[in-house]
Order: sequence, then C-alpha cells, then structure tokens
Amino acid sequence: MASTTSASRKRIAAGEKNGAKFIFITGGVLSSLGKGITSASLAMLLKSRGLRVTIQKFDPYINVDPGTMSPFQHGEVYVTDDGAETDLDLGHYERFLNQSMTQKNNTTTGQVYYEVITKERRGDYLGKTVQVVPHITDEISRRMTALGESGEYDVILIEIGGTVGDIESLPFLESVRQLDLKLGRGNTLHIHLTYVPYINAAGELKTKPTQHSVKALLEIGIQPDILVCRSEHRLLKDIREKIALFCNVQGDSVIEGRDAETIYEVPLIYAQQKLDDLVLRKLGVEAQEADLKMWKRFVRRIKKPTHGKVRIALCGKYTQYQDAYKSIIESFIHAGAANNVTVELKWIDSENLETVAAVRRALKGIDGMLVAPGFGSRGVEGKIRAIRYVRENKIPFFGICLGMQCAVIEFARNVCGLTDANSTEFVRTEQNVIDLMPDQKEVKDMGGTMRLGSYPCIVENGTKTWKAYRDRFINERHRHRYEVNNAFRDQLAAHGMKFSGLSPNGRLVEIIELPDHPWFIGGQFHPELKSRLVAPHPLFKAFVNAAITYRDRNEGGETVSTKKSKKAKGKKK
Ligand code: GLN
Repeated sequence: MASTTSASRKRIAAGEKNGAKFIFITGGVLSSLGKGITSASLAMLLKSRGLRVTIQKFDPYINVDPGTMSPFQHGEVYVTDDGAETDLDLGHYERFLNQSMTQKNNTTTGQVYYEVITKERRGDYLGKTVQVVPHITDEISRRMTALGESGEYDVILIEIGGTVGDIESLPFLESVRQLDLKLGRGNTLHIHLTYVPYINAAGELKTKPTQHSVKALLEIGIQPDILVCRSEHRLLKDIREKIALFCNVQGDSVIEGRDAETIYEVPLIYAQQKLDDLVLRKLGVEAQEADLKMWKRFVRRIKKPTHGKVRIALCGKYTQYQDAYKSIIESFIHAGAANNVTVELKWIDSENLETVAAVRRALKGIDGMLVAPGFGSRGVEGKIRAIRYVRENKIPFFGICLGMQCAVIEFARNVCGLTDANSTEFVRTEQNVIDLMPDQKEVKDMGGTMRLGSYPCIVENGTKTWKAYRDRFINERHRHRYEVNNAFRDQLAAHGMKFSGLSPNGRLVEIIELPDHPWFIGGQFHPELKSRLVAPHPLFKAFVNAAITYRDRNEGGETVSTKKSKKAKGKKK
C-alpha cells in the first residue's frame, strides 16, 4: 500500500504512547443499518490517503466465535488466513480495504469471558472477586488497544456490534468510555450511525430516534463527534442543523448516509461529503489526497457494464437467507465488474431438485451454475442431480467445498459406475469417495476444529485452473472436515477427472476439473473469501468469463441438449 506522508506519520507519533488513533463506530435506533459497510468505507478512504489502517469488530454474543452457529442465525462464517472463524463484516473489511484480517480483528463477549475465566481458574486474580468492571472491561480494552500497540497502524477503526441500548454491548461501551480518558482527547473519535425515518403521513423526516439514541450514548458517558444518518431521503441543511443542535455535535459533523445503488459506492458518497477530511481534521492527522480512480472505474462497471448480463444459478440450501452466501454474492459482483457484465443470480434451493425434470426447469436459461458450500445431507441429492445436468449439457460449473465434493460423487456414480458413491458425512458405503480427513477422525469438539485457514496448493501447468490463476503456487482458505478419498483417485482419473490442484505433498486433492468440458472446476477451499473489488478472484473471474462464452454461443442461454438421466433416484434426505 501507499505509505503515510512523513508529516502525518510524525503527527501521529507525536505526543502519545501507542502511536495509533482510534475511531469507535457505534450504531443506534435499529440494527442492519450497515455499520460494517460504513466502517469499511471510511477505512478504505483513509487507506487511500496513505494511512496504515485496520478495523476490529467487537461482537456482543457469548459464542466464542460464529463457527458453530447456523447460517440462518448468523449468516456466513468468514474465515481468515490464520484460521479464525469470524463475523461476516470482516469480509467487508477485506473486500473494501484489499487487506487480510486476522483473528485479532474479531472479538466476541465469549472470547473475553473465556480468557478472564481461564485466568481466574489459574489463580491469576490472587483471591480477588472477579467482576465485569474492571476485569471484563480491562480485557476488552486490552484487545481494543493491542493492534494499536503493534506500531503497524496509524488508525484503528473499532466497530461495536449491536445497537446502543442493548444490555449485551454495555461492557464494550464502558471500555470505550474508559479508553477515551486513557488515550486522551484527540486520539479517539466517536462516530455514531443512526437512522432518520421518513414518515409518509407527515411528509417529514424525523430526527427524534437519533436524538434518543445519542441520549442513550451520553448516559453511558460517550459524546459522539460525528453522526452518520442513514436515510432513504436527502437530509437537507435544516434537518442536519437540527440534528447537530439537539445532539450536541458541530454543524458540519452530520453526514448523510443515503441508500446507494451498490455498497461499493458508499465510500464515494462519503468522500463527496468529505467525511475523511472531517475525521482527519478532528484527529489532527495530515495526509495526502485520496486516489480513488481505480475504485471509481470498478463502481462504474458495476452500475453500467458494457457486456450485458449473464445468469448464474446459485444452488444451495440456505437460499432464503442470502447472508449465508455473502462472500459468494460479492465475488460475483467483483468478477462481473472485471468482465464488464452484470451477474444475475438465480437462487435454486437444492431441496426442490427432486427429479431431472425439476432440474431442467430450474436451470432453464442459465449460463453457468455454482454449487455452494454446506454441511449435512439435506439437499445433497438435488445438487448431485443438477451437477449431472450441467456436466452432460456442457454448462459452465463451479463447485465450492461441498459443491466440489458433490461433483466428485456425481462423477464417481455416473461416469465411473460406482453407484454407491457418497461422502462419509452423509452415509457409510463401500464407495466413500469423499471421506473424513485422517486428522479429523479423533475430533470430538465441534468448535474451531475443522481444517481452517490458508493452505498452499500446487496447480498443474496447462490446466484450466492454471489458465485462471496463471500461477502454479497459490494459497486458499479452507473450512471443512472431509476430502477426496485417495483410494479412489486412480479410478476417477482413469475416467477423465483431473486433479488440477494438490497440496504440496500431493496427499490432498484441492482442485478438480474436467478437461473435456468447457469449464467444470471444483475447489475444496473457499475462493469467495479472497475476492476483493479491486482484485477479483481468478476462479470467479474465469467462471464468469466462461458463462459469457456460453451465453454468446447459445444466444439467450438455452441449454444445448436435454438428455434424460437414467439414474434419477429422486431420494430425499
Ligand atoms: N461439509 C463438508 C466438509 O466438512 C463441506 C464443508 C464446506 O462446504 N465448507 O468437508
């Protein structure tokens, strides 16, 4: 990244202990206002001004991490390079900042208590009564300042999960209040994200919820410096002045956060209102001008692509709750921008694919199909049926983790004639082509025990996978317990499946492809976790490109043949 101007570096280093400035971001009025996007957008603007920036998320729930939560509860679990299972907001941070996060970027109440209770059992508190204040709040503060003390960052943004007024996030806010005093004014800044609703009957924007939310923050001892007001309408000057007056902030410190066409436009909307200037002025930091040219080009392509659209079927079992596939959706936006097309996703619930006819109906008019990651047997037979259809009809296919495993099962059953082929995750047979990894066999605890985080992979020269990466040595992030069973590798290969990516010792199959198909690739890892707007993932980019070729060849995307499956068992698990 661009380096900080020496003036700003000096300015930051001067007169303070740990060298970093802290921006705390809280949310008020209601949830789902997009605190994660606001934090990521501001961080991206500050980074584009040459500052070294990172973001930390503090989540109020008691789970140690979201790894054991259902995607219906919490959306996608975002895995970092160092193998932490984290909140999906970390995905936004990486996608906007084009920078990798670590386990230090996400703290939960569960982790804080776990640490304090472990110390208590060890006797570290020497007979003292262990309390929320100061023991829990001290542990929170320690985590909030740890990255700042590393000397690697000029500015740390800290996003507090939940909504001000919740019981659960109170200890976090108490730590923030204490840090204000400890770090000294000028080293911290408070941004509060609120909602300004428009009441149709009155024909007016209402500021009262914002006033109440700020009052709740003040009761905790935190005075916001900047208010970002989410609204579906423009916040004209008189409304902004009214909010400033009642909430005790300066007139220029009420920022309009109106809805954007794409989340990637949000930094540009804030830049227009000079939010970054305001923040730097309040923190007393000087920095170079932002260079947003590349970002603007990608946003233009998202909004107005020149090559029309392609339709990709996204086949999974959490399709009613799209946060479960957040990174996949975003990866398609990046890959679409890179190919100058809009990727229109057609959501397909694999549980509904009970017959070949249902598959054909569901996949009508698509230019490619992605089979999503997942756990458990529900919907798996539908996925396998859909994979057979796209394999036989030469429709571009991309399988991720479970999606790749299903592709191997399908190929084993319908091409190699291993009719009982299955994964040990679903049923034990003589033909478990997908099996538990040896180091998973003794695992009893479910939390944090999968194959997690970044692993190297060697790509075979000349394969379609290689054409996508243009690199033999890659690293990808994993989150799974099962893998291709090496006992079946020879049979699969003899029938035409290529293992185009292997672990360096050759023991683990990381990528499969079918050379006699226009584009049929499956990865045991999660490429969606490494795609960023300005650096789209090579496999997503190549897959979307293959979908464009398919579309152009088939004029409107009708499938070439509708050959019937002889093996449609229609069994539902
Ligand atoms: N359930 C499969 C496994 O554990 C796939 C996991 C995934 O798709 N992330 O291996």
